[in-house]
Amino acid sequence: DRTVRQIAAGEVVERPASVVKELLENSLDADASRISVAVDAGGTEGIRVRDDGVGMRRASVERAVEEHTTSKIDDIEDLEAGVGTLGFRGEALHTIGAVSRLTIRTKPRGGDAGTELRVEGGEVTEVAPAGCPEGTVVEVTDLFYNTPARRKFLKTTATEFDHVNTVVTHYALANPDVAISIEHDDRELFATEGRGDLRSAVLSVYGREVAESMIEVAHEPDSGPLERVTGLVSHPETTRSTREYLSTFVNDRYVTAGVLREAVLEAYGGQLAADRYPFAVLFVDLSPDAVDVNVHPRKMEVRFDDESGVRESVTAAVRDALLEAGL
Ligand code: ADP
Ligand code: MG
Repeated sequence: DRTVRQIAAGEVVERPASVVKELLENSLDADASRISVAVDAGGTEGIRVRDDGVGMRRASVERAVEEHTTSKIDDIEDLEAGVGTLGFRGEALHTIGAVSRLTIRTKPRGGDAGTELRVEGGEVTEVAPAGCPEGTVVEVTDLFYNTPARRKFLKTTATEFDHVNTVVTHYALANPDVAISIEHDDRELFATEGRGDLRSAVLSVYGREVAESMIEVAHEPDSGPLERVTGLVSHPETTRSTREYLSTFVNDRYVTAGVLREAVLEAYGGQLAADRYPFAVLFVDLSPDAVDVNVHPRKMEVRFDDESGVRESVTAAVRDALLEAGL
């Protein structure tokens, strides 16, 4: 019923940034090569994610907003294997629709008919043919309009936008082969080109000074749990006063892991000025058996079986890179 639906929604949709995350993941799953995100008032008034992905036929888009529907799990084994595609299984669009006004316009690649579907507070109010380009546009307005308690928990526009920007930034860095852009109140914050290399994504996101200061990390440890540590870290003089530019990814998934950040900082030794932090975009690959990614699905925390092994390899990888750059 309605209450159950709205409580369940809270598990997936906490704030505008969680909507953006789910929609971005859907666009990436849909094989998009361009994705644009636009939000109004930090996402509290409007969120629009447009992609040039595979799109949906009318019957598929109708199914997509129902409960527990996904096109991404063929059988129970997939579900147990767990990590092939991104996101909650078959819940995102349905739960977003339950707590907002949702419009989807979509046309399959190579198809001749587009569809527009509207959902309000969980009820489909319109499904009609629509002229639109191939791909999908999902628009979410008035998030939590029907759940005032949840709406009250939203922070200022600036804070909510900050969270949105963080999500889009991490996806843009993790997917340099996809052109990803973000606009806030009609102002573009960044747009990556989708050229495939990390340095050009960093250039688009963080600007020229940071991109040019970046030092390449490419390390395959001989022992320990990690198979590979790759990415970019900044020159010790290119820093900021917060840790938030230390982005770490485990098996291509953005994570927050204190151990990884500390390992990076340790590699700089005494080279960083007091309370200054470098930029880092670091990808750590290891056997999925050696890491638990389901500590909390939304909070992006992970736990490594061999935490000190991970720490040592990451520090060694970054230190090697700095040494090779003469630092
Ligand atoms: P899940 O992603 O776990 O399958 P969602 O509720 O996020 O669940 O999406 C439901 C279904 O809608 C997806 O399985 C997919 O088939 C379809 N879908 C959602 N977004 C898109 C998109 N941007 N392009 C194409 N298909 C999409
Ligand atoms: Mg999804």
